[in-house]
Amino acid sequence: MFAAKTLAISYLASLVAYQYIRPQYSIAVLMYHNVTEILPPSYRSIRPEDFRLQMKYLKDQCEVLSIQDLVKAYRSPRHFTRSRKPRVIITFDDGFRDNYTNAFPILKEFSLPATCFVVPSWFSKTDPSTAKRIFLNEKEIKEMRNNGISFCSHTLSHPMLPHLDYKEQKAEILKGRQELYERISDPVVLDAFAYPFGEYNQDTMEILKELKFKIGLTVWHHLNGPNDNPLRLKRLTADGRDGMIKFASQVNPFGFKAYDKIIKRLRTFNLPRSEGQRISGPYPTEN
Ligand SMILES: [Zn+2]
Repeated sequence: MFAAKTLAISYLASLVAYQYIRPQYSIAVLMYHNVTEILPPSYRSIRPEDFRLQMKYLKDQCEVLSIQDLVKAYRSPRHFTRSRKPRVIITFDDGFRDNYTNAFPILKEFSLPATCFVVPSWFSKTDPSTAKRIFLNEKEIKEMRNNGISFCSHTLSHPMLPHLDYKEQKAEILKGRQELYERISDPVVLDAFAYPFGEYNQDTMEILKELKFKIGLTVWHHLNGPNDNPLRLKRLTADGRDGMIKFASQVNPFGFKAYDKIIKRLRTFNLPRSEGQRISGPYPTEN
């Protein structure tokens, strides 16, 4: 047990040390959904104590950027600098209430910026089976905003965009942004967008350009570099079942490559995999 722990610590230290020798361009964007004890750990739910461990690692070993920093990085190539520490952005999708009750105190404890991609028609929404409120309300959003958390849009009602025609897609994207901007007139609302289920088509891309969004976030599991299309940025699903070794490997460019190689090797033997899965299917809270 001691040997395994020593090995794990050496591995994590070497990932960080390597970065100091070779500064990297990449930026990792982490994606969370629920932070709760109630749901079993999954690709969209993590226990608060595990979330705290991850935030502590980010605070100690990484440079945590804001969504405004990400917009700026893609404004022009000269803004996309290299870094000696792994650079990470923390995001939450859908605006669950546990982001306020469980994640927010931990983010505050470590003074970490984060961004919630929210769906205005879900504000204050309750779970019909329990009658308990499971989405953020405006009071919670206001308090989070006053403490370093940004809010950006994720459409008006969270549809599968490629299933809609151009006009319907545009209405969803535009109204989602308008409703949010009317409540919290933060300029970044106009700039950043996350695709529901990570899905988009050619129409979606054209609409984002037309509405002058600067960045669009998918769920493609990878790091982002300076030559990537800013409207198809990638995100790492922070899977609540992963241990710290995998988490640290994923946010570190050197570790990501090494881990990716191991995973690809495993796939050739047809072993079960959890990487690169698309997020799809209905949300547990949707009717
Ligand atoms: Zn979503």
